[in-house]
Amino acid sequence: METVIRLSAALGIFCIMIGWEYVSPRRIPHLSRKQRWPVNLGLAAFNIAIMRLSLGGIAYLSAVNAANQGYGLLNQWPVPEWLSIIVTLLILDFAIYGQHIVSHKWPLLWRLHQVHHTDLEFDATTALRFHPLEIMISMLYKVLCVVLIGANPWAVIIFEIILNGAATFNHSNINIPPTLDKKLRWLIITPDMHRIHHSTLTAETDSNYGFSISCWDRLCGTYTANPKQPQTTMAIGLEPFREAHELGFLRLLLLPFQALRRR
Ligand SMILES: [Zn+2]
Repeated sequence: METVIRLSAALGIFCIMIGWEYVSPRRIPHLSRKQRWPVNLGLAAFNIAIMRLSLGGIAYLSAVNAANQGYGLLNQWPVPEWLSIIVTLLILDFAIYGQHIVSHKWPLLWRLHQVHHTDLEFDATTALRFHPLEIMISMLYKVLCVVLIGANPWAVIIFEIILNGAATFNHSNINIPPTLDKKLRWLIITPDMHRIHHSTLTAETDSNYGFSISCWDRLCGTYTANPKQPQTTMAIGLEPFREAHELGFLRLLLLPFQALRRR
């Protein structure tokens, strides 16, 4: 049931964003959808299948187990449910922000995370482009956080839906008026803010790590407000990987096991 709720919400938000991108795009892509979507959607299907067969639902089950056994911080005291949901959401979001920074700084994790950054365009399907090992490691890390926090099981489901929805939204190639974007950025991460993280310039890639709320980047000094190049023409991707034909489905699966290319 938990998986059905999560996947239905993710699919619904994905369809809305694809429609929005079609009606009001922010950038004119250099590559056609045919050149990128089969790879990104293929990785998504592969990851969903692998997770269903392995660790799918384990974060929620860990939260249920922690509540039943009395593990974790929030299960030590009688905390009102609304408060445990808010605290769980905030701590998990900060934990994922921290994990994203480590994925850029630790070469072993960068080997996996670079797959996400090799996309030469930036749209809702980019949010699906992850190596399966990164998804699995991320899930195990989430389980560790859930058990340490004593996370509220409902909050874990809500968090997964928010994280998925926010990632789909902030990778979308949608046009939001700059004045509205500026206001939204005080609370959430907009596509213009996250696109900077997908710049080919390393200084810009090493900033704007958040996925849903923007305060972590602002508080921790990793916020970049504007890219050096205009949003509509800035180069997306990684400098060592500029050829789309080099970035097929199988090639991306093998990429973490090949020699690291210097950025
Ligand atoms: Zn990243």
